[in-house]
Amino acid sequence: MLKIENLHAEINGKPILKGLSLTVNAGEIHAIMGPNGAGKSTLAYVLGGRPGYEVTGGSVTFMGQDLFDMEPHERAAAGMFLGFQYPVEIPGVSNLQFLREALNSQRKSRGEEPLTGGEFLKLAKEKASLLKLDMDMLKRNVNVGFSGGEKKRNEMVQMGILDPMFAVLDETDSGLDIDALKVVGQGINSIMRDAQKGVLLITHYQRLLDYVQPDFVHILSAGAIVKTGDADLARQLEAEGYDEVMAA
Ligand code: ADP
Ligand code: MG
Ligand code: MG
Repeated sequence: MLKIENLHAEINGKPILKGLSLTVNAGEIHAIMGPNGAGKSTLAYVLGGRPGYEVTGGSVTFMGQDLFDMEPHERAAAGMFLGFQYPVEIPGVSNLQFLREALNSQRKSRGEEPLTGGEFLKLAKEKASLLKLDMDMLKRNVNVGFSGGEKKRNEMVQMGILDPMFAVLDETDSGLDIDALKVVGQGINSIMRDAQKGVLLITHYQRLLDYVQPDFVHILSAGAIVKTGDADLARQLEAEGYDEVMAA
């Protein structure tokens, strides 16, 4: 689904990604862990096409297409979802308006009929209940005044409604209490654990991986993948720390 080969990227002329390679096949969940400043968020932003992140080498193929030939909205329409460490607030736009607009514009790009108001509301209720997010939250302006945990649950509801083929989740677990972590973990499993789908789960800590079992765990350090293993690698990192595991 996603093939990253020898990717190099920089911000303001400063090289951040330095030859990163990674392949995610359908049905796989890959966790990316790594010390602060390793380039994890940069990878997520580059995949999302955020301005200011300049790709200087390598290639990324997403569902058979050159990712860098696709505009950010085309990436979304092709089924890529990005969840960020610091979700944006959009004053003046309700969550429901925002999501219906986003979903219907993606459906339109795929040549599908838009959902009616009633159909959309039914879908939104179903996903909100799955993620234990009160419907009132969906009527409020996007993320405005939401707590950290509410933003993350909200992001999971967004993901449930958009039903992407591929999700890149950057520190979806940051700032969550144990209950919210569990809900988010179960949300990722129920929405994205699928033989047709793929996930890149970027996380600092092993604890989310108690709920979402990764098929592969990669350590990203200084802009490249330096080690790959299974879920045991994450447990080893938690126990021993990055320095020790990377030196081994
Ligand atoms: P991680 O998510 O792994 O903690 P980031 O991808 O956020 O790491 O950052 C990687 C490196 O890029 C860090 O050294 C960081 O300081 C640098 N960086 C991030 N954003 C900018 C920016 N806007 N300008 C310059 N350097 C940046
Ligand atoms: Mg960081
Ligand atoms: Mg980061």
